[in-house]
Amino acid sequence: MHKLLEVKNLKKYFETKNGLLHAVDGVNFYINEGETLGVVGESGCGKSTLGRVVIRLLDATDGRIIFNGQDITNLKDKRAMRKEMQIIFQDPFSSLNPRMSVSQIIEEPLRIHQLCNSDTEMKSRVSELMDTVGLASRLADSYPHELDGGRRQRIGIARALALNPKFIVCDEPVSALDVSIQAQILNLMMDLQEELNFTYMFITHDLSVVKHISDEIMVMYLGVMVEKCNADELFEHTLHPYSKALLSVIPEPTIRKTKERTLLQGEITSPINPKPGCRFAARCVYAKELCSQVTPELEEIMPEHYVACHYVKEINGL
Ligand code: SF4
Repeated sequence: MHKLLEVKNLKKYFETKNGLLHAVDGVNFYINEGETLGVVGESGCGKSTLGRVVIRLLDATDGRIIFNGQDITNLKDKRAMRKEMQIIFQDPFSSLNPRMSVSQIIEEPLRIHQLCNSDTEMKSRVSELMDTVGLASRLADSYPHELDGGRRQRIGIARALALNPKFIVCDEPVSALDVSIQAQILNLMMDLQEELNFTYMFITHDLSVVKHISDEIMVMYLGVMVEKCNADELFEHTLHPYSKALLSVIPEPTIRKTKERTLLQGEITSPINPKPGCRFAARCVYAKELCSQVTPELEEIMPEHYVACHYVKEINGL
């Protein structure tokens, strides 16, 4: 398998008036070409920042980003890279220019990168892209406010596809949509991946959303990775106390009450100048003295299943 993206000890800190905010704090992972990495965590865990740093919308504080064999961490000319790496945003409405029609929005990246030689070619490419994402050609002259959320997100996807990227960061692409539309968009993204061999980094706060689309899932808590493994494995053997809590609140399609929910309590540790120790300690029911003193390292607990927790074996009876 070809590693399309590799991230090594990536950090992104922000200066604040109270100190350094550690939004992403030493994250390591890779994504194979044609596969999807789901990145899951509560809002504020650093997952969206991670997505933006990976495609260089934000500069990294430290660490390395290797894309298709090239170190792009400090690449000055981002133009070529931008064609290969795209992003789909959460809120299709605010990410689309309300003064531009559907066709103008999809045309924009083609114009910037001068990918069409004539207006006819441009028109034909826009029409092809609209067709690919299931947008009727009669909507070409419509404006975003005239369309529903699902169609608006399809415009966002068409715009991301316009440059034939290899890699797409999908930042909560279905969170703002109704459940029935969510399924349509997820199916569309999976079909496109099969057809065009895209590699996705799919960011969401909702584990149930990434279950079917991801090959691997990485769970983040306050800027660090706490668990990572194959998607099926995560649902079968959830090992980290935080991942267990996230999984326990996924609604089940049953009228029987089958599982106990773990509602997280306790204050969230500040990500500003964090002290050594497990960042989840203040909310973890299994926390002991060591947890607030020593930062747990990510360890391979089962084959290709990595967890950062001092007491993971004891908690799971391994
Ligand atoms: Fe809980 Fe300690 Fe494990 Fe952190 S290291 S998840 S506080 S048991």
